[in-house]
Amino acid sequence: MTTVEIIAIGNEILIGDVLDTNTHWLCQQITGLGGHVVRATLVRDEVPVIAEVLRQAVARSTDVVFTTGGLGPTADDMTLQAVAQAAGVPLEEHAEALRLVQEKYKELAAQGYVAQADLTPERRKMAVLPRGAQALHNPAGAAPGVLLNIAETMVIVLPGVPTEMKGIFTTSLQPVLQAMFGESVFVERVVLVECGDESVLAPLVNRVAAAHPEVYVKSRAKAYGPNVRLKVTFSLAGRERAKVEEAVERAVADLRVALDEARIAIVSVDA
Ligand code: ATP
Ligand code: MG
Repeated sequence: MTTVEIIAIGNEILIGDVLDTNTHWLCQQITGLGGHVVRATLVRDEVPVIAEVLRQAVARSTDVVFTTGGLGPTADDMTLQAVAQAAGVPLEEHAEALRLVQEKYKELAAQGYVAQADLTPERRKMAVLPRGAQALHNPAGAAPGVLLNIAETMVIVLPGVPTEMKGIFTTSLQPVLQAMFGESVFVERVVLVECGDESVLAPLVNRVAAAHPEVYVKSRAKAYGPNVRLKVTFSLAGRERAKVEEAVERAVADLRVALDEARIAIVSVDA
C-alpha cells in the first residue's frame, strides 16, 4: 500500500492562531484513494527543521510526502529552500513555473484584482524551485505547487491556504494521483448498535477484528447515559472493489452474529 506522510508548516499553526485543517483534509482524501497515511508532523517555518523532517521521511522510504504552507512570496515562506536542502539540489528559476505565475498575474490584472501584471521580484520568487522539480498549476492562487522526487520518495509541496491546497490537489495533481493510486478503493461501513457500554461491546468487536485482521474494526466511544448508541466502523483499502467490499461485509456479518448472540440490537448499517 502507498505510504504517505504529511508535514504541515507554519508558525501560525504552532502559536495556536490557525487550526491545521489541511492535514485533516489530506488524510481524508488520501485514505479515500486507498493510500495509507502513516505520520503527520507540524513544524514551524524553519529551514533546518523542515529539511530534517523531510530527510527522515525519505530515510523511511515513505512513498509520498505532502507538505502544506510556506510557498508564498513573503520572506517567511521558505518551504522550498528546505526541500532543496533535503534533496541536495540548488534553487533556480523554473521556466514553466514562471510562465504559470506570469499567466496568473495577467489574469488577476485583467480582472482588476492587482494593479499590474509585472513580474516583480516577489512574484518571481514563487517560480524559484529546487532543480529537477515539476511545477503544478494553482487554480486558486499564484504560487504553483511543486513536485520533486527525492530518492524513492515523491515530495508534493502545496500552499497553506486551504482553497489553494485543495485546488491543486483536485486538478493539476490528479494525473499524478491516478498513476500513484490507480484503481485503489476505500470501503467503510458504520454499524450503529443499541449499546451504551463499550466494555460490553469490546470483547465482541475484538473477536471480529481478530477474525478479520485485514479489516480495520474500531468502536467509537461516546458518553455514558440512557439511549447511548455506539458506532462500530469497518474499513479497508485495496485494489479491487468487489474483493474489498466482500471482506468488509464478511466482518460486518460476523459482528451481526456476535451481537445477536449477546442480544444487542443493530440500529443501522451505513456505507
Ligand atoms: P501564501 O501565498 O498565501 O503566502 P503560503 O503557502 O505561503 O501561501 P502560508 O503563508 O503558510 O501559505 O499560509 C497562508 C494562510 O493559510 C495562513 O495564514 C492560514 O490562514 C492558512 N493555513 C496555512 N496552513 C494551514 C493549515 N495547515 N491548515 C489550515 N489553514 C492553513
Ligand atoms: Mg505565506
